[in-house]
Parts: sequence; structure tokens; C-alpha cells
Amino acid sequence: MDIAEPTRPGLRPARRGRARYAPALALAIVIAALLASTPAPRSAQAVGRLPSCDLGDVYTVPRGYDDWSVTLVDRLLRVEKDYVPPDLVNVREAGIPGGGRIRAVAVDDTRAMARAARAAGAPIGVWSAYRSYAEQVQIFNGYAQQNGRDSAITYSQRPGHSEHQLGLGVDFMSAGGGNPLPGDWATTAAGRWMRDNSWKFGWVNSYPRGKGGTRWNDRTCLRYEPWHYRYLGRAVAAEVHRSGLTIREYLWRNHTLLDSTGRSAASPTPTPSATASTSRESTATTAPATPTARRTTAPPTANPTLATGSSTSTSSGVGAPVLVAGLLGLVGVLALIGRAWSRRRMR
Ligand SMILES: [Zn+2]
Repeated sequence: MDIAEPTRPGLRPARRGRARYAPALALAIVIAALLASTPAPRSAQAVGRLPSCDLGDVYTVPRGYDDWSVTLVDRLLRVEKDYVPPDLVNVREAGIPGGGRIRAVAVDDTRAMARAARAAGAPIGVWSAYRSYAEQVQIFNGYAQQNGRDSAITYSQRPGHSEHQLGLGVDFMSAGGGNPLPGDWATTAAGRWMRDNSWKFGWVNSYPRGKGGTRWNDRTCLRYEPWHYRYLGRAVAAEVHRSGLTIREYLWRNHTLLDSTGRSAASPTPTPSATASTSRESTATTAPATPTARRTTAPPTANPTLATGSSTSTSSGVGAPVLVAGLLGLVGVLALIGRAWSRRRMR
């Protein structure tokens, strides 16, 4: 940064003018360096329009195991058949009654949440936690056989599309209260406490009621499930809570990365069944080639937002705060140059 010559008035009059520009030049270089080194903003540009409950099989991006807090699965977006989180632990490690496994990344917050719920007189338990792809095939097929596939897809995610497969989706229950599915769990003490407080511990209800209190919700593309919560971590959960959006809307708008090729390549929805699931799965695996290719160019890092940000170069790659800082810097530089000019003319 020592490009500026020391100013020695009187000694080297010929260089005085140039020296006056030195502060402006230094400032410009500092601003340029800041702009160049500023990491991608937290909210990388998403695909754009939120699809209106499109049914499809597109691999979600990001979906590295380190990207857990911003990985979105819904009716359209999915993970692979062999997506198995590497850090699944029994929910008892979080000191919560019930069975099943969740990702270790959620244990501390879940323990704190269970403790707080108990202290509030609304103890919670776990009804259902991690499910493998194969288990989701069983569950979805069971519903489809019972009520027809068209009905099943309104209240059960197809295999690959379930937050349970992420190891971050949990169906909670009242401690010792049994199956939370019948009735409206949100009207129980535990259900109400969770609805109001879970976000403080990184958990958010994935499937709230629709507009006007309907059971079907266009924003989540699933029926109301007061018992089903997704762990996002405290930071993202707080953002979702503040935004007033559903998890699906929030992640889609702020973190989900796909491109038009990937979306248009969506294959017809596979109907998982005991006999045909294997061949249909392989169809789905080959269809959305682009998001997979993008993954390989941007391997997961410890920071999911940086990883996703670096894999895109959209017009909104520079965040608003950076732009404002840049503009302010530019104004400062112009002012300094202007002052230098006017002084020179006054001489
Ligand atoms: Zn669930």
C-alpha cells in the first residue's frame, strides 16, 4: 500500500499534484480489493419463480451432507436413493423419549428444546425420525395402496423427497402420548409449545395449514402436518421464522440452486412400487444431469453458502450491502479527485 510518495512540500514541487491524488488512489485500491475479496452473499440467487407444486424428480442443489441447513426437498426436488447422512445417532442422545435416529448436528439443540418443553409443562417425544429411501418406499406404497396414489401424494412425500431421509425431519409427539397423527396435534400442550417455540432451537414446522386454515397448503404442496418439524439450525430457522415464509418458500427463494436445464429435464414422476422401484429409480437418476454436474464442479465445503455461491455467477452475485459500500467509496473517490482538481486550479 505504499504506492503513495511521501508528501514533501517545497522540496519536489513537480510531484505535489500527483501526491494529492494519493489518498484517492489508495482509497480506490482498498475499495477494489474489498469488492474482489467479499465472499458471495449468504443468499445465493435461487431458480426464480417458485413452482406451483410441480410434481417431478429433480435433484436438489445444494445437497452435500455439509449443506444440511439449506438442502430443500419437496414435491419436485429430491435426493438420491443412496443419500444416507453419515452422522445419524439415536434420538436418546438428545435426551428425548421415543425412538429413531437424527443427524448428530441436531442433537444439542434438540436436547435444549426437549428440556425447555419439559420445563414448560409440555414434554415432547419422537414418534418417527430418520427414514431410509427404502423405508419411504414402503410407507408411500402403503398409503398409495390404501387410498390411491393421487391421494397419497397430498400427504406423503414420495421416496427421495422426504425430509425424514435427510435425517432432519422428525414427527414429534407428546411425551407418552402416542401417535400424534389423529386430530390436531397443535391443539395439545406439546404441539402448541412446539408451534410457538421450536424455531428458537432450530426446528420449524414444515407443513403448516394453508390460507384460510385449509388442510391443503399451496405453499408447502402438502397437507397440514402439525407434528412434522425440520431441523435447520438456529440461524436459518430464525430467518425462516422472521420471513413469515414456509421452509419450502424460504429455501427456494434464498438457497436452492438449479438451472433451467435441470428443471426442464425433470422426468415423469416415478411411482414407487415394490416391483418397479428399481428400474424407475434408475430413470430418475439419469434425467437431471445438470445439477449433478454442477455439484462436481463445486464440491461441498464446510460453509454451504460459500460453496453454493461459488457455483453460480448470476447478476445478483454481489449483495446489496457490497453495492452500497462500493457506491459510497466511488462517491468518496470522486469527491477527493474533485477537491484535488479545485486546489490545483486555485494555485
Ligand atoms: Zn413426517
